[in-house]
Amino acid sequence: NADMAMYRAKEQGRNNLQFYTADMNDWIQRRAILEKGMRQALEHDEFTLYYQPKVDINTGKITGSEALIRWRHPQLGMISPQEFIPLAEETGLIVSVGEWVLRTACKQSLEWQRLGLPKMGVSVNLSPRQFQQANLVEIVSKILKETGLAPEYLELEITETIAMYNESYVIAKLKALKDLGVKIAIDDFGTGYSSLSYLKKFPFHTLKIDKSFIQDIEEGSDDNKIITTIIAMAHNLKVNVIAEGVETAEQLQFLQQQQCNEVQGYLFSKPLSVEEFYKAFSEIQEAALTKINRKSE
Ligand code: C2E
Ligand code: MG
Ligand code: MG
Ligand code: MG
Repeated sequence: NADMAMYRAKEQGRNNLQFYTADMNDWIQRRAILEKGMRQALEHDEFTLYYQPKVDINTGKITGSEALIRWRHPQLGMISPQEFIPLAEETGLIVSVGEWVLRTACKQSLEWQRLGLPKMGVSVNLSPRQFQQANLVEIVSKILKETGLAPEYLELEITETIAMYNESYVIAKLKALKDLGVKIAIDDFGTGYSSLSYLKKFPFHTLKIDKSFIQDIEEGSDDNKIITTIIAMAHNLKVNVIAEGVETAEQLQFLQQQQCNEVQGYLFSKPLSVEEFYKAFSEIQEAALTKINRKSE
């Protein structure tokens, strides 16, 4: 079990050491509680989606949002997806949770259009196990039909780990999704072991630079060169490139100089509940225009 914990800590990224330090017994107990609770969480309506705006780096316009799941546990309070998504992956519950996320995000996107917000895309994270699901394409297609959302408004975020699977299988699946009309983003780019020259075999629309690189932006840092290279390669491949985890004006300025296409992060807004997103939309939009313009002057 210590191995398991190490594995999960690694999986969660280089800065996450919570499972190295947490008492093992507590951890095992919490895990069991979460695993049990997750089985009823869907029926009990304990999941909710938050949405974080994405901003066009040239125009300052909000181009869409990323849906991020939250779990309001009746006893334990808010649980981070970083904790329960890996568990849902292991138990297989991710399949039904993932379907709920897709349907909810598509419905919400239409609801905002109905309420008069500008038409914009919504991005949904797919975990590796969902991507491997044999009927993923059918599920996505069914949900689009059911909800009536035009496919071009839906983007699916998958991570580089798909590069581990059989290449022709991955290409065929991505192509089928592309044929539906939905967009594909490669999330957390730079944290895995794949290279962009390998990934270019796969049909995708957007490359998302992992926030760990963005957060290390400073003068003369090696990470700056990595970002510069990723953006240049993305332009070469003619894919859209977005930076996640943008928190400071300095980071924005650097990304503007490098001609990154889009930005997402606390500098513009943290992920918001449906109500907050709707209420704060104009305010966030206006502030984004100011932040973008101020830097390009
Ligand atoms: P991700 O897809 O890379 O999502 C970005 C994460 O960065 C989110 O964490 C977001 O809240 C956080 N973030 C955004 N802006 C900033 C910033 O400026 N600074 C910092 N430090 N963080 C920022 P969150 O919501 O905790 O989600 C964590 C991960 O859980 C996601 O990473 C994604 O891999 C997974 N996840 C979330 N929702 C879903 C879902 O519905 N399905 C699946 N399969 N995975 C999900
Ligand atoms: Mg994502
Ligand atoms: Mg991710
Ligand atoms: Mg990410």
